[in-house]
Amino acid sequence: MSAIWLGFDTESDVTRWSAEPGLAIPPEVLGEALAAAERLVEILTRHRTRATFFLVGRLLEVAGTDYRALLVGHDVQCHTYSHHIIHAGHPGLYPGHPVYDLPPEAERSVRRGVELIEEWFGYRPEGLCAPGGSPTGLRGQPEVLRILWYNGIRFVKSDNLGLPEAPMLPSRIHPYTYAEEGYPDLWELPGVGWHCTLTLPRGPVGDWPPRSVVPGGPLVDHPPRTPADHIVWVKQELDYVRAQGYQFSPSWHPWSLYRFDPQMEVVDFLLQYAEEEGMPVKTYREVWTELTGEQDFTSG
Ligand SMILES: [Zn+2]
Repeated sequence: MSAIWLGFDTESDVTRWSAEPGLAIPPEVLGEALAAAERLVEILTRHRTRATFFLVGRLLEVAGTDYRALLVGHDVQCHTYSHHIIHAGHPGLYPGHPVYDLPPEAERSVRRGVELIEEWFGYRPEGLCAPGGSPTGLRGQPEVLRILWYNGIRFVKSDNLGLPEAPMLPSRIHPYTYAEEGYPDLWELPGVGWHCTLTLPRGPVGDWPPRSVVPGGPLVDHPPRTPADHIVWVKQELDYVRAQGYQFSPSWHPWSLYRFDPQMEVVDFLLQYAEEEGMPVKTYREVWTELTGEQDFTSG
């Protein structure tokens, strides 16, 4: 049965702000990130729903008190310390790019991200969302998997960039393990659905090639312009995944949803759709515990 895996890549607008330690985050950028998380939590509370927040460690260094107050009781997992890319294969970003970390920097970013969540939330996260995502997950990347494994990561969301002909679908829809790389107990929980950062305009819309929202769907010749447009877009995605029996596990970002619509109506819509259609809403940790039989200590 289709379900919604509800998770949010929780960062600030990384296109404007590099997470270098010592570099001040502009107050308006941090303010937007916090206001977005606040609005989101308010909607989740109203729907009595928990979500996963894949949190960038750097934000805890500068606003740990605020994030802890907001997110305690939710499923907080790791989005690295710096949000630099830690894996090969991200389109457009390559080793040598300023926001690209190779080992040992990648190891430090994962370890520090994990430590900060433990410091502020009292448990070590077992999940990690790979910044930037990947069209093939972390397959064939034993060095990255080793870093994750030895830092206690047991489930990862990285297979979440679709091919040009089906951009909302990962290379493999269903959870899988990295047994072939030597990590049979490290799970991939793939992302199905459009990244909000790829659909919502951040500024003036330049060239926007017509595309279909779902495989085989009609072409759309402009990005969502209003919250109502975005809801129509997401409804197409939801109807599609339900018909296919897939999960809906998009890469949504509080700051990006909030900048497009400070009311974040699309989140309200999503949760209402789930209620009306009887789609279970799960955190990523819940999905992982169902697969492995581990305890979910983050709930209750
Ligand atoms: Zn991210």
